[in-house]
Amino acid sequence: MRDVVYQKCIHPGCGATAELTATAFACPRCGGLVDVAYDWDRVPVPASLRHFETKWADRFHPLNFSGVWRFRELLPFAPEPSFVTIGEGQTLCQPADAVARYVGLHPGRLWLQYEGMNPSGSFKDNGMCAAFTHARLTGATRAACASTGNTSASLAIYCAATQLMRGIIFIGSGKISYGKLSQALEHGVRTIQIHGDFDDALRRVREVSRQLGIYLVNSVNPFRLEGQKTIMLRVLEALRWQLPDWVVVPGGNLGNVSSFAKAFQELFELGLIPRKPRLAVIHSTGADTFFQLYEKWGLRWRQGQYDAAAIDAYYRELDASGRKPDTLASAIEIHRPVNLPKALRAMAWCHGVVRAVPDAEILDAKARIGAGGLGCEPASAASVAGLRQLVREGVIHPEEQVVCVLTGHVLKDPDETVAYHTTDRAVFDAKLGRRGIPSVAFANHAVVVPNDLDAIIHAIEQNA
Ligand SMILES: *Cc1c(COP(=O)(O)O)cnc(C)c1O
Ligand SMILES: [Zn+2]
Repeated sequence: MRDVVYQKCIHPGCGATAELTATAFACPRCGGLVDVAYDWDRVPVPASLRHFETKWADRFHPLNFSGVWRFRELLPFAPEPSFVTIGEGQTLCQPADAVARYVGLHPGRLWLQYEGMNPSGSFKDNGMCAAFTHARLTGATRAACASTGNTSASLAIYCAATQLMRGIIFIGSGKISYGKLSQALEHGVRTIQIHGDFDDALRRVREVSRQLGIYLVNSVNPFRLEGQKTIMLRVLEALRWQLPDWVVVPGGNLGNVSSFAKAFQELFELGLIPRKPRLAVIHSTGADTFFQLYEKWGLRWRQGQYDAAAIDAYYRELDASGRKPDTLASAIEIHRPVNLPKALRAMAWCHGVVRAVPDAEILDAKARIGAGGLGCEPASAASVAGLRQLVREGVIHPEEQVVCVLTGHVLKDPDETVAYHTTDRAVFDAKLGRRGIPSVAFANHAVVVPNDLDAIIHAIEQNA
């Protein structure tokens, strides 16, 4: 009899399986991506999502306190004593009417799922606790990732807080914000900076992990995506188990969108939700591979028979033209998203759309989100900028219920925020490279006044 939990190739035409404890994170037959697969007939699943409300009464239990593991019946890949938690997932999902007005939605229709409240300040912790749980099953003693910053910050904090593994991170040259780099250094992971961008770093860390038997925690690891499913479970919980019409998420390596679609697909097949929300993935125009392939080239999942040659051709074109990903939203500055096939499947399952928005609109959206009371990093604001564009296009209607995922905390990248509000060319050029100053429609300048009471009072009253 087949195991209750195993890894399974995502390609329906292949469907080869691997053991739960395999760490190659690739199909043993065709080399494709793998899912964590469950024989749901043999695991106990609650009859209704309201079951999870019962966990709130027992928050002294670390697994019920965790915003990931209190949903453990829906990611039952390990025995309970193996679950690793450092208190992740204590996030907020709340209506944001000021931001709704900005994007053109009616009051009460936009909710923001704020993942900045995680221990390391980004959504990555949802996946990291699950990856650590799997790593523990495999007996791994070292873990590694390539990172634009947040995966390494998350790996670092889990290594330090659990003492279960030693961490090694690979970063590209000059492509990491100081907020994130400081976390990696502070929590004590071995930090390898290589000449190249994120895509180069990821290629290397995969080689090194294979050769040295180091556990890989990038989002090609399907266990990370199991943990990230709970972001959507917390959204549903906040909405009192009502489904939103849309979930809008920034796209980098496309792990989140793949994970969210898997969550909804499983809930749907288990009869726990009656329909699936639609998903919108938002890139920056400076790193827009999935937008180009899905919306411009018309690439589709086609039950796994997608046109892989088209993807290769696209990457060849990128290489030939020497184009590198280039966006101020560094967390999504990625040209070769590892989860692209899963994201294609996600679009097919959830009738998705993909958009790319210019950096200037991302930074403006970020300032509106901040003025609305939640601080996020630039990549997170791509969701709101993309939503605004989709409303303008008429794809999303003003009365639809929309959730934007704010993936990371504003303090991850204070340089960018200060540069935006000072609109200081020198700051932009020095901190952000020569990309020019974006439109900065909502800059909040500091007022410079002499050290004089009348002048100070005048400046305050003028601004009121
Ligand atoms: C990692 C990250 C993303 C990209 O998520 P993917 O799952 O790789 O698409 C977006 N925003 C932030 C803040 C991130 O850290
Ligand atoms: Zn396969």
